[in-house]
Amino acid sequence: MPTDLRLPTNAIVQPDKDRFLHEENPFEAMMSRFDRAADLLDLEPGLYKVLRKPEKQIIVACPTMMDNGEIEVFTGIRVLYNTSRGPAKGGIRFDMNVTLDEVTALAAWMTWKCAVVNVPFGGAKGGVICDPLRMSAGELERLTRRYTAGIINTLGPDSDVPAPDVNTNERVMAWIMDTYSMHKNHTVTAVVTGKPVEMGGSLGRREATGRGCMFVTKEALAHLGMTLKGTTVAIQGFGNVGSVTAQLLAREGCRIVAVSDRTGGVYNPAGLDVDDVINWVKHHKTIEGYAKGESITNDELLLLDVDVLVPAALENVITTKNAGKIRARIICEGANGPTTAGADAILEEKGIFVIPDILANAGGVTVSYFEWVQDRGGYFWSEDVVNDRLRDIMVRGFRDVLELSRQHKVNMRTAAYMLSISRVATVHRLRGIYA
Ligand code: NAD
Repeated sequence: MPTDLRLPTNAIVQPDKDRFLHEENPFEAMMSRFDRAADLLDLEPGLYKVLRKPEKQIIVACPTMMDNGEIEVFTGIRVLYNTSRGPAKGGIRFDMNVTLDEVTALAAWMTWKCAVVNVPFGGAKGGVICDPLRMSAGELERLTRRYTAGIINTLGPDSDVPAPDVNTNERVMAWIMDTYSMHKNHTVTAVVTGKPVEMGGSLGRREATGRGCMFVTKEALAHLGMTLKGTTVAIQGFGNVGSVTAQLLAREGCRIVAVSDRTGGVYNPAGLDVDDVINWVKHHKTIEGYAKGESITNDELLLLDVDVLVPAALENVITTKNAGKIRARIICEGANGPTTAGADAILEEKGIFVIPDILANAGGVTVSYFEWVQDRGGYFWSEDVVNDRLRDIMVRGFRDVLELSRQHKVNMRTAAYMLSISRVATVHRLRGIYA
């Protein structure tokens, strides 16, 4: 079936102001973890300075003709944080709350995420300050093309490869790829990932992040001597990451006892039929009203007495306020930044095993890497090959981080940062400083 290139009605979501009420500034929150890891690595002062700064921050004005004939000028941002290990990789979001600070933090995050699973990419992120909910498909297309033209000198399969993020999708990637290709006078599929399969996308990309969460959760359970069968799981967020994680963990024998979305959650200690919930959401666009369990709030879900908690919705949901009350044995961070730096210490003290975001949700960027490899080779893999190679990379990433955490007697998050930073630093040392 050809991919539907219309934006699904639920693809563009209402910006949620609450999620931007950060407990911490996003860049500083991320950098506090960086600093701790850099300190433990005894990173030389020069490299510390290099790795603490973004390589390039681009801000472009994007004049766009609106449907009513008026011109609106949007602001577009692209940040390349570090490209020492390869082309910059990172999504583009369309949102009213995009700021240079947040985009820079997310670009740094991508740098560490690619390095932790040893994918040969650097880190980037982009954003356009706009309210896509209020824009027609035509306006979005014109804005996307103008933004692409504005940052075209940084884009390219060897330099900077965007992907979808908040409020962008494979249709937007198709426009970016087309605009770039028009400028180059030939089709360049590898300039973006997350494309429709018909034009160079990869099989298995849609499920990749959730599948990666499943692989690392399995590893964590094995590490802690827990069995998959009957393991209880609560998942916050039932979108791409949350629903696939739920489905795949259920197939492995886990009992998914609670799931939620922006409207709240449903809890059934006997276990939910995940396919049935997915079917409900497909028809009703929300979990609200699903009756085969009791209603719970998102806050209550986080505090359930379960073996595994998967925050797969928003940043900053596990904070100093609720971390002390969390009862899960394992937290698998499907979302980016669900735990504040302040909450880290509390979770550690409680002995909760946290699979940090930069490792737990790296399945998406890993299959993006596979997409780029397939585009460049012009040879496309079966879904089984994609999934097998994803498993190899995620399991190796988990074991590398675990090994480092044992060696240095630090938690998994610090170990993941240490591994990433040491990989990026090694390349800088080998390449030297060009002056
Ligand atoms: P999505 O839009 O498909 O789903 C988000 C889900 O979170 C929805 O069910 C939504 O209803 C829910 N949600 C929104 N606001 C909420 C709230 N206030 N409380 C509880 N639930 C709420 O998004 P996604 O692609 O699944 O991404 C989820 C998280 O995972 C994000 O942090 C994203 O950055 C991260 N992530 C996604 C990928 C990917 O490949 N999709 C990769 C890496 C990281």
